[in-house]
Amino acid sequence: MRQATVCIDHQALQYNLNRVKQLAPTAKIVSMVKANAYGHGVKDCLAALSQSDAFGVACLDEALEIRELGYQQPITLIEGVFAHEEMYIVIDQNLECVVHHKQQVEWLLAHKDAYTAKNLKVWVKLNSGMNRLGFKVDEIIQIIQRLKSEGFNCVLTMHFANADVENHPLNMQQKEQILKVKAACEPILASCCNSAAIFKWPELNFDFVRPGIMLYGASPFTDKSAHDLDIQPVMSFTAEIIALNTIQAGESVGYGSLYVADKETELAIVSVGYGDGYPRAFIQPNFVAINGKHVAVVGRVAMDMIAIDVTGLNLKLNSEVELWGKNRLVDDVATANGTIGYELLCRLSNRPKRKNLSPLEN
Ligand SMILES: *Cc1c(COP(=O)(O)O)cnc(C)c1O
Repeated sequence: MRQATVCIDHQALQYNLNRVKQLAPTAKIVSMVKANAYGHGVKDCLAALSQSDAFGVACLDEALEIRELGYQQPITLIEGVFAHEEMYIVIDQNLECVVHHKQQVEWLLAHKDAYTAKNLKVWVKLNSGMNRLGFKVDEIIQIIQRLKSEGFNCVLTMHFANADVENHPLNMQQKEQILKVKAACEPILASCCNSAAIFKWPELNFDFVRPGIMLYGASPFTDKSAHDLDIQPVMSFTAEIIALNTIQAGESVGYGSLYVADKETELAIVSVGYGDGYPRAFIQPNFVAINGKHVAVVGRVAMDMIAIDVTGLNLKLNSEVELWGKNRLVDDVATANGTIGYELLCRLSNRPKRKNLSPLEN
């Protein structure tokens, strides 16, 4: 059977959740499980993340999936509702909305009694310079005052545009804005830290932190690896050697004959390709790991296969190849392909088989 496999390590997930607890001991943890838990499979990840105080998702369907699996924690819809009718489901299923534009505030006010009766929090989004969603400083202060006077329990929330960048001037401006709004609206709950900010600004943990990528053991920073941050890769993406060939100097492999051997070279063909979600776009030399050692990918990545240079390694058919995981970090594969670990994790196709390592009891 063709083997391209995605294996999820529950203990690594729990280790990373504990890292969040160490870094933000006084904040509640809203584990971000949007996009099918960053491609890891939300069902499996929730089992390992059940000690989270709450979950964060991008839309109603993602929230309903969590409820259907039986989890009762608060769930924040980070973009709020997209249509008025969704408010009925939100309230029925005990979901919490972000409000980031006036229309959503109106929808919320129209459901004031039912929403406040369940004491669901409303997350009011500050636009402090990301300029995607939210209200500017003056406007948000008025909106929060209005919502509070109507009996809503508000969380002031914001997202950094450059939390992963050292000394970006916008970071300071964004911090000043949330502190200003918070001071003007006290008492109020607040939340602004994603993974990068959790590592960098413990003073901004406030009431809720919202870790995403760090839970999955990938780094939010380009200059710090998962190992540097003491987080553990959760996903192992592996495949098998399905053919071994020796080519001579001057011979090539794969589409476009992109790679031409300069000496006798032993090639292994591995059962994975862009049809599984392995990236084709490499701009720097790319590697896989075999028995913990890095081995170069040569030639074009095809839909179903890649070639690797295994000269002198004496490998056999069916040997396991790690595309990313504990030995070859997803962030390094991403860098070699001009992207970020987040994207590679989220855009796996459904072809790889899914497995769990260390499944949880009960
Ligand atoms: C996705 C997301 C996060 C998590 O970001 P990471 O960089 O993955 O930690 C936090 N907050 C919001 C609003 C998000 O959309």
